[in-house]
Amino acid sequence: MDQSLQKSQPRVLSGMRPTGKLHLGHYVGALENWVRLQSKYECFYFVADWHALTTDYADTSKVKSSSLEMVFDWLAAGLDPEKATLFIQSHILEHAELHLLLSLITPLGWLERVPTYKEQRENIKDKDLGTYGFLGYPVLQSADILIYQADYVPVGEDQVPHVELTREIARRFNQFYSLPQPRRVQALKPEAKSEGDFVTIETSNVFPEPQSLLTPAAKLPGTDGRKMSKSYGNAVLLTDPEPLVRQKLKTMVTDPARMRRTDKGNPEICPVGDLHKIFSDEQTIAKVWEGCKTAGIGCIECKKWASDGLVQVLAPIQERRRKYEENPRLAWDILEAGTARAKKIARATMQEVRQAMRLSHEYQAPEAATGAPE
Ligand code: SF4
Repeated sequence: MDQSLQKSQPRVLSGMRPTGKLHLGHYVGALENWVRLQSKYECFYFVADWHALTTDYADTSKVKSSSLEMVFDWLAAGLDPEKATLFIQSHILEHAELHLLLSLITPLGWLERVPTYKEQRENIKDKDLGTYGFLGYPVLQSADILIYQADYVPVGEDQVPHVELTREIARRFNQFYSLPQPRRVQALKPEAKSEGDFVTIETSNVFPEPQSLLTPAAKLPGTDGRKMSKSYGNAVLLTDPEPLVRQKLKTMVTDPARMRRTDKGNPEICPVGDLHKIFSDEQTIAKVWEGCKTAGIGCIECKKWASDGLVQVLAPIQERRRKYEENPRLAWDILEAGTARAKKIARATMQEVRQAMRLSHEYQAPEAATGAPE
């Protein structure tokens, strides 16, 4: 067995589509968690540029610059290339080979049932998503995960069906194909509850079944109260300078019950209250809850405090980002080094896949060949 397939800790895999500069929703919903996980697990985080093309195939001009901008934010938020492997999906061609092989065994009905497929076909009207690639993107996701023999995939609630699909595809592959000899690997026990369930097993299965690692989801609305998204124009970016952050928060919607300064409000249903919960200290939160409910404070004052908390969180991120903005090559070098590390594992897995599927590139004399078509 190739040494690069040996693990000392459970392996985590996650990716992000390159959408350029990231906003607070990305930070709270994924990035902060990625930073935490890198100290606990063997983490692989990738720029999902092929995934971006499943919907944005018509204009590819910004993929590369968006990838770099996003990776600046990853590094600025605290991802450490000494701890986590950062790489670009399209630079590792083995993902495409595995995608092809998995697509051969994935029943069409499994893909048509994926909830995000139906939802996006209904909601995205300005692009033709009736393509082969769009239907098949969950198979590409499965290939991304399985090629690193990942144990955990950090996801939000809405992505759990994708991990479930990956488990089903892995199971189906393992039923059809197996390695000629079992080998000893570190893997999570089925339905593992903790890292204590990461044990050595003997198996001739190529793929472990990965588990979802549910990301604790804090509610973070945009300035108009809807889900934060760059396409809604309601996002606060990690790169927004202090005056712009303050300006954006000034226009943020509040509890509609507070029409006048003397009206009492409820921070539990106010988007500014949600921001306080994430970015303000306990004292400020207590002051806001008391002041809002008794009309003891005004919304302008409250938003100023929310801005203070947010600016404090953003300042060190922006400071760390500066180094990469001034010298983008530094970030590119990190991605290249990560790609080389990831490629070793992807290659080793594909050797096992080909071996199990009897597609090995090694010469085999015809009389010694097994499983040849009759
Ligand atoms: S005081 Fe603060 S929490 Fe209360 S409604 Fe105004 S902005 Fe929202």
